[in-house]
Amino acid sequence: MAPANAPGVSDARQVDALIVGAGFSGMYMLHKLRALGISAQVVEAGTGVGGTWYWNRYPGARVDIQSLEYSFGFDAELEREWRWSERYAPQPELLSYANHVADRFDLKRDIQFNTRITAAHWNEDARRWDVTSENGDTWAARYLILATGCLSIPTDVTFPGIGDFKGPIYRTSRWPREGVDFTGQRVGIVGTGSSAIQSIPIIAEQAAHLTVFQRTPNYSMPAHNGEIPASDFEAWAKDPRAYRAASKDTVGGFQNEPGEKLATETSPEDIRADLERRWAVGGFRILGAYVDQAIDPAANKIVHEFIAGKIREQVNDPAIAALLTPKDHPFGTKRPCVDTGYYKTFNRDNVELIDLRADPIATFNADGIATEKRQHDFDAIVLATGFDAMTGAIDRIDLRGIGGVKIKDHWAEGPRTYLGLMVAGFPNMFTITGPGSPSVLTNMINSIEQHVEWVADCLASLAERQHPSIEASAEAEAAWELQVAMAVTPSLMPQANSWYMGANVPGKPRMFMPYAGGLNTYTEICRQVAAKGYEGFIIRQGDRMLSESREFTSQPPLPDIPPSLMPIILERLAAAGLMPAA
Ligand SMILES: Cc1cc2nc3c(=O)[nH]c(=O)nc-3n(C[C@H](O)[C@H](O)[C@H](O)COP(=O)(O)OP(=O)(O)OC[C@H]3O[C@@H](n4cnc5c(N)ncnc54)[C@H](O)[C@@H]3O)c2cc1C
Repeated sequence: MAPANAPGVSDARQVDALIVGAGFSGMYMLHKLRALGISAQVVEAGTGVGGTWYWNRYPGARVDIQSLEYSFGFDAELEREWRWSERYAPQPELLSYANHVADRFDLKRDIQFNTRITAAHWNEDARRWDVTSENGDTWAARYLILATGCLSIPTDVTFPGIGDFKGPIYRTSRWPREGVDFTGQRVGIVGTGSSAIQSIPIIAEQAAHLTVFQRTPNYSMPAHNGEIPASDFEAWAKDPRAYRAASKDTVGGFQNEPGEKLATETSPEDIRADLERRWAVGGFRILGAYVDQAIDPAANKIVHEFIAGKIREQVNDPAIAALLTPKDHPFGTKRPCVDTGYYKTFNRDNVELIDLRADPIATFNADGIATEKRQHDFDAIVLATGFDAMTGAIDRIDLRGIGGVKIKDHWAEGPRTYLGLMVAGFPNMFTITGPGSPSVLTNMINSIEQHVEWVADCLASLAERQHPSIEASAEAEAAWELQVAMAVTPSLMPQANSWYMGANVPGKPRMFMPYAGGLNTYTEICRQVAAKGYEGFIIRQGDRMLSESREFTSQPPLPDIPPSLMPIILERLAAAGLMPAA
């Protein structure tokens, strides 16, 4: 069935692959498919490449993974000719990099900008996707590749009276290109997630007064940004290939010195020294310091106490320090933030923190924001209220698979995929860093490279067989759903009301969406699946079945779990109904 508003097939542009999105995923996918001789068209809602780094131009926007690792490694020349100016590159430099990649590989000629895809329907008779844009353009594509981004759709957060405010309201994720000058202004910012934590110190320096409205404090670690540390640069320069391979062969897709000890079995003095050293390095270095911190609440508390102490050291007023200290989620159960001067900003005379738990927003009005206790007058308001993560961009497309089944219905109880790459009932449709893949738990560039290369290999093998269609089996999808649950359930992660769980979007089903088993494990599973002739996939040419593998049997290597953690893990798996109680 063609989309309701689709013109006749003859009007549609024919293409082997239609790629939606021109961020790093869409760009690399295009480059790979061209090399395979598969014709591809990219369609992008924005007016330029770069995705995240095109849209998020708020002050202070920068990466939380060192740029040496948050950059493409697929082309040695590209890698050699690009020099990052800082350890954590800022948004303008990331956007320049995206444009450099696009220009270097002459990608823009196959990207249609300013075009939002609104519908894509699987045409069972023709075995292709009929795709429509907001502007009424249509494509007939054998393959549909959703490179639409995990964090590309801002939440629809709204407040009573929001339309009455007489000043400008800026969203961090849709920041004006020309920038904003807050000099001399009274500014309110709603939210204290990563974008807010990056922008607050800079806005505070400009504004006459800044009021920060916080509902949930997040953990933030210092970036200690500056020049790329010589040791890192030398390790990379000595052998870039080996450096990249080492990054990819990790849980998080970046080199982070995972600890090997249990916090609960290490002396307080040793822990202090180790965590101080990691804090001095900065970034995520503290994230995997102890093997038990992500599982055992007692171990997590030890690391939490260290960070709480660091917040107290930086914030002069103990009451403000207490408010800024996370209480409702264990450390590491949400992606922590990496900041430059965030906590110290609250020592400034012109910065005020409002705790929305104690004094919720009642309404926006012409002059600003009224909380239940008082009125706050502003010249400008900033909303840093996050994203409809992982499914938001896909959900917003009228996407229908076999029999007209809508993706929204298929995902009514949470996103179900096979490997985060394909969805049962949606043939020839791939998601890059889709739900069910490590994606947002990792250095995403490395996850993107792994996904794009897997999809390209898959399409190359289909091309050799005259382009049959490929589809995930329902059985493999269900088995993978179980793997995703098994990977996260032993950890503390499900205890947080995080966007990983869909908890920031009212009405969104609660389900832990990314695969928490690690990029290295996941990559090995995907490799095995392909090596077994695309296990779990159904491959057919018209009505002719070429291969039908319904089961998912590939097993990740068993993680090395200390025996003392086994009782906690088994108890959590049993409580979640994933294994019988002991
Ligand atoms: C503020 C912010 C900071 C981040 N920092 C980091 C970091 O430090 N480290 C890290 O690993 N990751 C980070 N991320 C995650 C980041 O999204 C990825 O690193 C990476 O840029 C994703 O690339 P992508 O191409 O998959 O998606 P995106 O960059 O999100 O690109 C997707 C593109 O698809 C387009 N699109 C979506 N739907 C449609 C449609 N229907 N029609 C047409 N076009 C469409 C969008 O306009 C967008 O340009 C951050 C994300 C945000 C929002």
